[in-house]
Amino acid sequence: MTAQSDCCVKVSLRIRPQMANEKIEGCHICTSVTPGEPQVLLGKDKAFTYDCVFDLDAKQHEVYGACVQKLVEGCFEGYNATVFAYGQTGSGKTYTMGTGFDVSVADEEKGIIPRAVRHLFQGIQKRRTEAQAAGGHPPEFKVSAQFLELYNEEILDLFEGARDRKSNIKIHEDSSGGIYTTGVTSRLVTSENELLDCLKLGALSRTTASTQMNAQSSRSHAIFTIHLCQMRVCQLQVNGEVNGEEDGVSEGSISQPAYETLTETESRRFQH
Ligand code: ADP
Ligand code: MG
Repeated sequence: MTAQSDCCVKVSLRIRPQMANEKIEGCHICTSVTPGEPQVLLGKDKAFTYDCVFDLDAKQHEVYGACVQKLVEGCFEGYNATVFAYGQTGSGKTYTMGTGFDVSVADEEKGIIPRAVRHLFQGIQKRRTEAQAAGGHPPEFKVSAQFLELYNEEILDLFEGARDRKSNIKIHEDSSGGIYTTGVTSRLVTSENELLDCLKLGALSRTTASTQMNAQSSRSHAIFTIHLCQMRVCQLQVNGEVNGEEDGVSEGSISQPAYETLTETESRRFQH
């Protein structure tokens, strides 16, 4: 099997707790999670299996730890990752992704995006500190963000003012089938707070139209993308030649660090 045909899509299921009105209406909980298995029973006998299943009482950090942590670590090694929340209005996508942006949200209530943003900047700091402690050249990082909204077949740039939002965004496909956009505003950020500010700013300018099930729902799809560009020392260069062996510095030679650049995209896509 070639690497390309390897399936790297994982699907997790999260069951949210009942809301107050559902409790008042006496709604029954019709799901039961099989202990120790990523399986849910609907009613008594309809079983569905996923990569992970989170029951009513699952905490935000558990979801992050099981589904997202490794993806962010992978970004530091050059892998792209997308987290996509899918579900009916009111099912908990905004809560899980953490894009409600209620400023007063307690740390343990924070969802995937704020956690990933923190993780990313802590990861950057950790790698710099480790390289410095080891007496090496610290890696350099560049972080930028884009925030798009898909609404009624239209792509809007959430980092643009209302008038310019429909700007010149174009969707293209490259020769290997990869989808990319042009004309999208990219914001360069240097800290966790700056990146969160971008997210808040974009989230605020989203088109909101309430639906019966959820007064906060914007009925649009939003895609928040973080680009991470890392320049780090990769191999030892001996007398102008790249030497692949880690301990391959011959005595008396002048060693120069060679840098490699990794660019990764960590996109968070969610529907409100
Ligand atoms: P969606 O974005 O899918 O339309 P929301 O994330 O807005 O749904 O969730 C609907 C309501 O349920 C919100 O009031 C939200 O705070 C609450 N909710 C969703 N998931 C959970 C959860 N796991 N724990 C506690 N409350 C939740
Ligand atoms: Mg929502």
